[in-house]
Amino acid sequence: MPLIRSWVTSANSKETPFPLNNLPYGVFSIGGASPICGVAIGDMILDVAACEAAGLINLGVEPVFQLPAWNPLMAQGPDSWAALRRILVELLEEGSSHRNDIEQFLVRQADVEMHMPFRVGEFTDFYASRHHATNVGTMFRGPENALPPNWLHIPIGYNGRASTVVVSKTPITRPSGQIKAPDADMPSFGPCERLDFELELGAIVGCSSKMGCPVSVQQADDMIFGYVLLNDWSARDIQAWEYQPLGPFQAKAFATSISPWIVTKAALEAFRMPSPAQVKPLLPYLQEPGPMLYDIALEVALAPTGKPATVLTRTNYKQMYYSAAQQLTHHASSGCAMSVGDLLGSGTISGSGKSERGSLLELSWGGTEPLTLDTGETRRFIEDGDTVTLTGAALGDGYQIGFGACAGTVLPAIPYP
Ligand code: MN
Repeated sequence: MPLIRSWVTSANSKETPFPLNNLPYGVFSIGGASPICGVAIGDMILDVAACEAAGLINLGVEPVFQLPAWNPLMAQGPDSWAALRRILVELLEEGSSHRNDIEQFLVRQADVEMHMPFRVGEFTDFYASRHHATNVGTMFRGPENALPPNWLHIPIGYNGRASTVVVSKTPITRPSGQIKAPDADMPSFGPCERLDFELELGAIVGCSSKMGCPVSVQQADDMIFGYVLLNDWSARDIQAWEYQPLGPFQAKAFATSISPWIVTKAALEAFRMPSPAQVKPLLPYLQEPGPMLYDIALEVALAPTGKPATVLTRTNYKQMYYSAAQQLTHHASSGCAMSVGDLLGSGTISGSGKSERGSLLELSWGGTEPLTLDTGETRRFIEDGDTVTLTGAALGDGYQIGFGACAGTVLPAIPYP
């Protein structure tokens, strides 16, 4: 698909993450005013709440932009999602007769503060990159037992915390917890010494499923509203001590950052990719009827306080073993009810190469191979004051579908009361 040109000229640049082909959904505020729903176009944001109030956006049902969250639109279902996208293209495309009515509702992205784009219902995180699972398994259990016996059959996941999912730029306080060195008799309690990021994509569930009712992979794909970048901050020392037998708990519960713009499934349609060949055939309920991964180039950079950033890794979402649709199908397979606004973390996205690893745990191989930053400093794990920034984009012919940044700066741990 070629670039769709807009009368918002900054949207026609090769460099903008937000051409008319993208139209990502966010929530913004200006100068401390109440947050409102907006759509990014070039370096501007269209205030869709104002457009709706002026009668320029009318989905023929209840108003959907009364709340500073995209959940009401999601709840109206895929027909409304498609209708809104058609209306937005009509309003913003080059030569649109609506330009004079619309121009007054554009604000500059440079002037706004971004907020959580939706209310997170529940958060589940998966473990779906074979390269990541193999790397971590090798470090935790040795190369013979790297991939657990269930891994090639089940999209492994755990139920995380929605309460600490935060929007990009929210500061992240270093967690404290129980830590036990391998040679110590007793655990101790204190600040995490092995703080890490995990480069992930978050899938947002836009349709609910009923308790007791499984969904097919095709139905699951249809239920997904869109995607955000997601940093599943991880305390590796807390994790190593607590994770058996029920999986991560406090090591992951303290924070999850997401990018502020929901990139819709519709915007990514041209970038669908088939999953890699299955090592063992999946059970029929998990088999994909079509391509459900996406070609999305991803990058993580780390910047010490007041210093330039160093790119630590570059990888691609198309290298995952399980798609979000397969994960959602598996999630509902027992009869677990899924709700509008549920967030599914893809799992750390690592490629096969050393420079494609999606966490510091892998990049520094458990802390044994420190990385040298462009500033000359080294890092095994994240230090106080470091800012970690995830970026990503699907690269089209002369345009890109960008996600905007998912950033977070780490603050020192708060002493235990
Ligand atoms: Mn994770």
